[in-house]
Amino acid sequence: MNKYVIACIDNDIEVLDSLYNKISRIVDSEYIVESYINAEQALIGCFNYIISGNEILITILGKDSSKINCDEFFIELYKNSPNTRNILFEDVPTVESLAKIINQASLYQIIPRRFDRVDFEFIILEAIRQNAQDRRLEEYQKVLESAVQKRTKELHDINVKLEILATTDSLTGVRNRRSFNESSAPMIQYSRRENKNVAVLMIDIDRFKMINDVYSHSAGDDVIKTMAQKVQDTLRKSDIFGRLGGEEFAAVLPNTSQRGALKVAENIRTEVENIEIVAKSGEKVKFTVSIGVAMLHCDDINLDAILHRADIALYEAKRGGRNRVCISKEELNEEN
Ligand code: GH3
Ligand code: MG
Ligand code: MG
Repeated sequence: MNKYVIACIDNDIEVLDSLYNKISRIVDSEYIVESYINAEQALIGCFNYIISGNEILITILGKDSSKINCDEFFIELYKNSPNTRNILFEDVPTVESLAKIINQASLYQIIPRRFDRVDFEFIILEAIRQNAQDRRLEEYQKVLESAVQKRTKELHDINVKLEILATTDSLTGVRNRRSFNESSAPMIQYSRRENKNVAVLMIDIDRFKMINDVYSHSAGDDVIKTMAQKVQDTLRKSDIFGRLGGEEFAAVLPNTSQRGALKVAENIRTEVENIEIVAKSGEKVKFTVSIGVAMLHCDDINLDAILHRADIALYEAKRGGRNRVCISKEELNEEN
């Protein structure tokens, strides 16, 4: 375990011994009391203690005849040990020296040497008490910080969950209508401005009411879920896909030509045609979708305008016998 060092420095051996004895008596094995006969030695000793992971808790710098002034000692020590409580045990520190210590290091107490009734034990105990208090405060701050961090993360996770709940359709896990609209709108605006192709697909399960009626509502739910998953897997990551309600879905495909959109739609249609679901009764359920396709026009004011054309195309597909893809009549003249 790392220890707290109390360094006594004085070139008067008697004073040094007396300090050493007084302090040794009042501290336990958590502390090391060291005596040095000059500041130069003390600096080397203190650095060695710091390097090996100990803390310089207190220095008492008395009379010293080494090359290093008291201010130099404290300033050098401060660079590596800013929390040390430094006691200057001297009669006549110069004003310059004091100013340097105060400005560039730190000074805990000045005890004039001529005071012969100084209670060193009390001063040291008080410094130890203050140090312990600082440590407790540090511990407390750490605990507080980690509690705040934990709470911030919890709130973040809750917000992420709320965001997912608010934007996801609970049955299928794909975007709900609100999220579909919110994600599509900026993309439509951008594509219109940049004159880029955008295709929209409206996808509706055929005769879904019958599936509910014949195989149960839960089989109907399974059909919706499986179909949504299949479409999501067929589309690109950059495509925006959502459930508009019931068994009706829509997809916005950026950078997609009319020909490309028809291919994607036809692909979805055949993929869905091949799905087989097993109802609770054990019966196999097959189903199909009809798809309406429309392209973004430069005069479309918003998403609804294209959705509307895709919807009309979807209606045409239903009228034409279902399980088919129809493109909006307004696209047919365009070369793509
Ligand atoms: P069409 O081929 O013309 O699209 O016929 P359809 O039967 O699919 O169309 P219709 O709009 O008449 O029926 C849709 C049905 O979907 C009616 C409604 O009860 C059912 N439905 C809507 N939402 C859900 C759902 O979340 N789960 C289930 N199981 N059924 C749903
Ligand atoms: Mg339907
Ligand atoms: Mg419908």
